[in-house]
Amino acid sequence: GQCRMVCPTGAIIIKNETEKLWDALYDKSKRVIAQIAPAVRVALGEEFGKKPGEVTTGKIVAILKKLGVEEVFDTSLSADLTVVEESNEFLKRYNKGENLPLFTSCCPGWVKFAETRYPELKENISSCKSPQQMFGTVLREAYKEKDAEDLRDTYILSIMPCTAKKAEAARPEFSHDGVREVDLVLTTQELSIMIKEIGIKFDEVEEEAMDMPFGTGSGAGVIFGTTGGVTEAVLRRVLKNKFDKEDCNIIFNSVRGLDSVKEAIVNIDGNEIKIAVVHGLKHADNLIKQIKSGEKKYDLIEVMACNGGCVAGGGQPQPKMITRETRALRSKGLYDIDKTNQLKDAEDNYIVKNIYNGLLKNKTHILHTNH
Ligand code: SF4
Repeated sequence: GQCRMVCPTGAIIIKNETEKLWDALYDKSKRVIAQIAPAVRVALGEEFGKKPGEVTTGKIVAILKKLGVEEVFDTSLSADLTVVEESNEFLKRYNKGENLPLFTSCCPGWVKFAETRYPELKENISSCKSPQQMFGTVLREAYKEKDAEDLRDTYILSIMPCTAKKAEAARPEFSHDGVREVDLVLTTQELSIMIKEIGIKFDEVEEEAMDMPFGTGSGAGVIFGTTGGVTEAVLRRVLKNKFDKEDCNIIFNSVRGLDSVKEAIVNIDGNEIKIAVVHGLKHADNLIKQIKSGEKKYDLIEVMACNGGCVAGGGQPQPKMITRETRALRSKGLYDIDKTNQLKDAEDNYIVKNIYNGLLKNKTHILHTNH
């Protein structure tokens, strides 16, 4: 009913910013384009009677187009950029033995926690912008000329699984001359509110494909939405041509699943790389304490603030009632997309190559920041 629409299970819409999107869509001076995070596509359907994990990417694209969004792209693509940047950063640090362990930086909930609780870890957190911000950065470059030509401003919308992504997009370092890299972040829940408000019948929406060129992400970019996904994505790149498929699968399996701390040790050319994957800030806090006391030692640590990773973000459907089963099903949805994607890792993605040879030529530094 009406109430559930506005206050789903009494939880977590901190503020409803859907008005802002309507304003932008009605503004003729703006070209609204969007990116969709991986986790959104395996959860939005639950607001419309679908099972957790059911993939609704094509419907989300079609709905955003109906609302007036001109082009719809895939955050998995910028996750691929993150994989390239972060694995380069890791190998550089590892070879020099500098600022290890390297902590991932794609979850703003974790970054904020670390800044507050463990400021001394600043140098250990990856300098990579998150996929959301990398996408904003690339799109601003890509639309510069077009904006000048048709005298419109490109307005960049993100559909994300959490409100921490709103706070991330608002950080001062992600604005340049008063222009934000990402103009507006709406959560999965906020998108569902808009769909209900205008009475779109979700079941009847015919699926549409994402737009080119930025609508193509690899499977590695898609699994970013679940715990262990970032690590697996980086490992797919780092282990390529060093291990056979079976050994790779054994290693990948050790970072999958919902155990609160997962570990993997990989031997590359005689060097041992120790990896930990942790999700949930309480577990991250424990792990950091163990590292500080010398009880544990790692080279690379993936941290996601939410239990299960972004699939279980606070902006997803039913955040307060989410069960282990729901987490597992939504994750499975992402691994299923990965399975049927021809592009397995970031470097298979020819769009990524084109971006490096074109838009980002000699300026990959714009993908990095000082947290
Ligand atoms: Fe947001 Fe949670 Fe994902 Fe972090 S893990 S980016 S807080 S949804």
